[in-house]
Amino acid sequence: MALVGIIGAGVGGIATAVQLARYGIESVIFERDRIGGLIRNAYSVENTMFFPDGIKGEKVVKILEEYVKKYDLKILYQEVKAVRKAGGQFEVETEEGTYRFKYLVVATGTRPRKLPFEGIVYHVAEVPRRHYGRVLIIGGGDVAFDYALTVSETSDEVIILMRSEPKALPYLQKLVKSRPNIRTLMGQVREVRPINGRGKLLARTSAGDFEVDLILGAIGRVPNIELVEGMKDDNLFLVGDVKNGIYRQTALAIADGIKTAMVIWRRERYGDIE
Ligand SMILES: Cc1cc2nc3c(=O)[nH]c(=O)nc-3n(C[C@H](O)[C@H](O)[C@H](O)COP(=O)(O)OP(=O)(O)OC[C@H]3O[C@@H](n4cnc5c(N)ncnc54)[C@H](O)[C@@H]3O)c2cc1C
Repeated sequence: MALVGIIGAGVGGIATAVQLARYGIESVIFERDRIGGLIRNAYSVENTMFFPDGIKGEKVVKILEEYVKKYDLKILYQEVKAVRKAGGQFEVETEEGTYRFKYLVVATGTRPRKLPFEGIVYHVAEVPRRHYGRVLIIGGGDVAFDYALTVSETSDEVIILMRSEPKALPYLQKLVKSRPNIRTLMGQVREVRPINGRGKLLARTSAGDFEVDLILGAIGRVPNIELVEGMKDDNLFLVGDVKNGIYRQTALAIADGIKTAMVIWRRERYGDIE
């Protein structure tokens, strides 16, 4: 088996594997879904310094796929169910087997915080691309405003409903303001239910009742840390959103991944433990 196991093929995991490959260090990435992770949901990524006009999240995923190909990265499309340390090695368990590594990189990202109602979608990339009449977005942060920009391009009306003053980047707020088909409202959702036979949802909120085609939830994210929670080991590394709290940014995930690979290389080459 390879020296390094990496859990998660988002930007953080792939950045780690690419930098390791540049040192000639082999890794195996475990991914339960698709290459790319969360960034595929982004309307326009502009703060990585190389795309002043912005780049769609989906295009970023295409670039990551090119990296995987160019560096011939090994990806196992398996969900990691458990991680243990045994006999000086990390054991990574999936339904298909147990894999052993000297180093383990956890780049598992986050999952959405959910509302207690059925019928809400949390990732805009999962929404079929079609025309929508009215879309309700719940949340007042960057993700809610970013989703609004995406769906406003194919919808007649988009409502962003938030409990308190918007927390989204002023830059995103300005873009949202410039779209005549997006409006923001203050309020809380009380109930969501399907409207029989019409494929629509009724959202009862403190700002009024809305009949909508789609509801997107963006009320925060929770780190996928459970696999290694409480585990401390010099050869265990956390990379990207799983460790970055509210500072969830692509550039930070990439930086974590590259630094992790550099530390692993130095340890192998010079025995450094800084
Ligand atoms: C709408 C939106 C817009 C954004 N816009 C920007 C922006 O403009 N600029 C910016 O810098 N950032 C932006 N971000 C944030 C950015 O997407 C994240 O910071 C970044 O993608 C995090 O990468 P990551 O590799 O840490 O985690 P993720 O991308 O979440 O990847 C984690 C991967 O791990 C996999 N995984 C998890 N658990 C397991 C397991 N047990 N077994 C196997 N695989 C597992 C998941 O399937 C996933 O593929 C945006 C985010 C959203 C939602």
